[in-house]
Amino acid sequence: MRTHQAFRFALDPSPRVERALASHVGARRFAFNGGLALVKARLDAHARGEAVAVPWTLPALRREWNRAKEALAPWWREHSKEAYASGLAGLADALRNWRDSRHGRRKGRRMGFPRFRKKGRGRESVGFTTGAIRVDDQSPVVLPRIGRVRTHEPTTKLLARLRSGTARILRATVSREGGRWFVSFACEVEREPGTPRRPETVVGVDAGVRHLAVLSTGETVPNPRPLQRALKRIARLNRELARRQPGSRNRAKTRRRLARLHAHLAHIQQDAWHRLTTRLARTYGTVVVERLHVAGMLRNRRLSRALADTVLAELRRQLTYRTVWYGSHLVEADPFYPSSKTCSRCRTVKETLPLWERTFRCDACGLVRDRDENAARNLAALAVAVAGSGPETENARGRDVRPTARRAVPEETGSPQGEAPAARTP
Ligand SMILES: [Zn+2]
Repeated sequence: MRTHQAFRFALDPSPRVERALASHVGARRFAFNGGLALVKARLDAHARGEAVAVPWTLPALRREWNRAKEALAPWWREHSKEAYASGLAGLADALRNWRDSRHGRRKGRRMGFPRFRKKGRGRESVGFTTGAIRVDDQSPVVLPRIGRVRTHEPTTKLLARLRSGTARILRATVSREGGRWFVSFACEVEREPGTPRRPETVVGVDAGVRHLAVLSTGETVPNPRPLQRALKRIARLNRELARRQPGSRNRAKTRRRLARLHAHLAHIQQDAWHRLTTRLARTYGTVVVERLHVAGMLRNRRLSRALADTVLAELRRQLTYRTVWYGSHLVEADPFYPSSKTCSRCRTVKETLPLWERTFRCDACGLVRDRDENAARNLAALAVAVAGSGPETENARGRDVRPTARRAVPEETGSPQGEAPAARTP
């Protein structure tokens, strides 16, 4: 079976290499911002009634860049041309996401119009798709124009796969997160298809913010302790930031510490999700999760719901490829399926269930159960209904609210180490 997998390594660059990396990240940002300025100028001209073409797509942006680069960036030869291509590709993606989101074709959070990138803000990266990309046995990584870069950890696992011909590098992405450098290799990998330990079983997963997840088996998977600690420290630093003078050196320092902490938090969270999704896909024949809410449906709702959607998107993304790897199935519940408000014993649906109500109490049959576990059990029952067998089938279908579900389409794959293609819409 051929799938995609990413291998990620922390880098340990020398001062010279670090300057080259920073310079390439800067060149990418320059192309992104230059392209964006052009798109904005064309949109303005268009609004004034001028007959101009707006370069929405990557090929159109590249044509414009090639025409303008000599005047705009006479130093362009100093970097791999991949740096500019990477910036324009990022811009084309951002523009497409914005347009899709506006037309309701995109799931999840609403996407705004792309904004100019500022140096040192957020995650900065640059991608390489062609040229001298290599990993060899002295453990360093070779990148176009940049040359050899030392890694913090051995690249043995990837190297073994490359040697045996079971992996092929498609793309390398270098990023700076919270002051540290990383490289991620997106690879095409040949792997043996697996089978889950209990292929006949179904598990419902209620992803949350308070807990990592609650399963229909009654198991609560807690947020890892370091995550709770990091959240507390972030709250403290945010208060500290509010006290600092705008533009002061201390403020910049606090901001940098916050960025590092956010990067750290993201890593802990990803790691916890990777462990959970691996265990689920390896154990159960069918895994059921809620489907993502379609963009627009949730506008102006609570922040906690938006956060839950981010969690859900990540769990779904990981489960999508992991279930393929381990031969289990992913089922997504319809976003309108009232998994929280339905009694998991008698299937009576409550009119309302406020968010603060942490325990589900059924007025019809008297069931008292943890709210999240009740929801997870309903999700599991849904898969049984879809499969069309088992004692719960009749119950699940015989209600006014007809739950619908579909098999998830494996549209993308990713890695146990973290970095994988971001959630995308089909
Ligand atoms: Zn009931």
